[in-house]
Amino acid sequence: MTVFTFGYQGKRASDLLARLVELDAVVCDVRLSPRSRWAPEWNRNQLAAQMGDRYVHVPALGNRNYRGDGPVEIQDLSIGLRTVLDLAATRSVVLMCVCSKLSGCHRETIAQALQERSVETEELRLNLSLTPSLFAEIPA
Ligand SMILES: [Zn+2]
Repeated sequence: MTVFTFGYQGKRASDLLARLVELDAVVCDVRLSPRSRWAPEWNRNQLAAQMGDRYVHVPALGNRNYRGDGPVEIQDLSIGLRTVLDLAATRSVVLMCVCSKLSGCHRETIAQALQERSVETEELRLNLSLTPSLFAEIPA
């Protein structure tokens, strides 16, 4: 069993969804506060609308200190891990936070807890699509 980890900063929700379909995976949103001020496509309501049952918010795996005001403190690790392992029994699972780097993100803490339970983890890579809107930002 492999559980994937993913940081969405700078990425498109549609690219993540394409990868989820490819893997037959569900994404577990492990943000305590599942909102994005700068990238509304990553707000919980929009993700749930776009991804349907491939989107699950798991607040138990949120970091109480997500604002950066202290060390990583997972809300309820054992309840959260049970949710993830239940899902992972039948489908691939992707743990999602905002942070582009795994290192220092609380999803690394969760990944380590999974590894201690003999679950392999791997950072997810997307097949990035170059959409016209990206080209539009390049000056002529
Ligand atoms: Zn993070």
